[in-house]
Parts: sequence; C-alpha cells; structure tokens
Amino acid sequence: MLCRSLVHLVFLLTASFLGTACQPNPDDLQERTIDTDRMMSHVSMLAADEMSGRRTGTDGGVGAARYVLQQMQAMALQPACGEQIEQTFSLVRRDGSSVEATNLLARIPGTGSSDAVIVVSAHFDHLGSRDGTVYNGADDNASGTAVLLELARSLAGAPPEHDVVFAAFDAEESGLRGASAFVESDCFSAMNVGLNLNMDMVSRSDSAQLYTSGTLHYPFLREVIEGVPPVEGMTILFGHDEPGSGSDDWTFASDHGPFHRAGVAFVYFGVEDHAGYHDPSDDIEAITPDFFKATGRFVLDVVEAMDSAIDSFPVVGQ
Ligand SMILES: [Zn+2]
Repeated sequence: MLCRSLVHLVFLLTASFLGTACQPNPDDLQERTIDTDRMMSHVSMLAADEMSGRRTGTDGGVGAARYVLQQMQAMALQPACGEQIEQTFSLVRRDGSSVEATNLLARIPGTGSSDAVIVVSAHFDHLGSRDGTVYNGADDNASGTAVLLELARSLAGAPPEHDVVFAAFDAEESGLRGASAFVESDCFSAMNVGLNLNMDMVSRSDSAQLYTSGTLHYPFLREVIEGVPPVEGMTILFGHDEPGSGSDDWTFASDHGPFHRAGVAFVYFGVEDHAGYHDPSDDIEAITPDFFKATGRFVLDVVEAMDSAIDSFPVVGQ
C-alpha cells in the first residue's frame, strides 16, 4: 500500500529520486526455491550413525530433536504457541517405563487476515538400535523432516498468506504419540487448523512414484492437488485411503491419523513400502536423489496451492 501511493506521488511530481523507494524488494519477488543439497545435508545429519536411529527418549532421539530445533531457530521461526518451539510430553512404554519426548512446533505467520492454519508435519524419530545394529531411517523419516525444514526456509523468505505451522513430531514409531500429544494440546485447540499436510518416507522410489493419500476422505483436496503442474522426475498417484482395505489403508499409518480423528482434513505424501522399510538398509545411499528433489518441489507447490485455496474448503465434521 505504501509503495503504491509512493508510485503515484512519483508520477504526479515526476520526482525521479523517489523512484528508488518503490523498487520492489528483490526478496519479495524471488520465486520460492527448494535446495536439494540442503535437504540431503539434513538427511546426512539425522540419519548418521551418531544419531543411533533417533529412538524417542534416547541420546540419539534427543540429539535429533536438538538438531531440528537449532535449524528452526537459525531460520528465526517463531514458536507455534507460547514462548518455546519445544513441546514436551511423557511417552509411557509398554513395559510401564516412561521417557520424555519432544515435538518441535514452529510457525511462519501469514500475510493475510484469515485465521486458517496449515500444519506441515513430519516425524523425526525412528527405531533406534537393535542388537548393535543402527536403524538409520534415512527415508523413514529423515527425508520428510528434511523437506519440512527446507519448506520452512523457503516460506520464511517469502511468507504465505496463511499461517503455516511446521510440526516435527517425536514418537511416531511409538504409535503416533507426538501427533496425538499435539492434537490434544491447548496449542492445537487455540488454532483454526484447516489442513494437515504430512510427509513420511518421501525420498526413495525406484519407480519415482509418490502417493498422495487422504483425498478419498477429503475430495476437495484432490482438486487442488490435480491443479498443481506435474514435476519432472516423478508420478503422483492417489490412493491408500480406502476404508476396509486393511494395511493398504494408510489413513492411520502416520501422524496425519490423529488430525483426521480430530476432524481436520489431511493429505499424506509417502512412497510405497520398499526393501528398506523398518530395515537397517534404510540408509542415505539408498535415497533416489532425483525423486527426492522432485518431491520437495512438488510438496512446496502443493503448499502454495493449499495456501491459495484453504479459505474455500468446506467445513469438515468433528
Ligand atoms: Zn515413518
């Protein structure tokens, strides 16, 4: 607004020196980018042997949470709620022991006036070590965490219209507990969450196929996603959300499940199970880089499309 009136003034006064005040900030015009090297660097940190498989409550799990927190702080992201990005909760294991778990919840405020919030999520925990073997979980889910961080970097440089909350969840492998803790929290209740966009296993596919799941429950999301231009190097498939199809139905297979249960529309991105699924061979070397790059770009395009469309979504039931 200020700039537009200045342009007018310049026009009226033909005072050329004012013209420079109206040059658009180059940062505002920059197309949002996805930097694959950064994504791979995040994966190499999170899926390093030193992280010992990032099991919730272990030194590796704590180290992974610290890494994600430091990345969010370096981008100057705001806490999603209150004063802290960390949301801690107690994870009670089957044997009755309990450990502290930590979600990282950061926010980029939108430029518009709508209160609808998009929650972009990915779990950073994995299985830990078993019998001396480290389960590095590069695809599951250092990859989704890496895309989440890269989306945050990209959107922080050119903020969206709506608030976007970046939720890096702990304890997914323990039964979606991090996402549940968030959905049950005051932080969640205080927000008008219009969409959860969850990523879990997005970097490894020999067939270069990424599943988009959840649109059977929320068909209006399929329309938005189908409007996103195809990205070279990948194919988008819809499915794995048919009720009654057993393990083929991924509706509650990852952190989007608690959002769906709470009546929040979701879309989940992930690949078909592969040989490295919950296997020690889920290492960074097995990532298919061109596909990973394409998924990063595609998910950013989807976030942008959802940012434009979210105010027209129908109210979904509780
Ligand atoms: Zn996972």
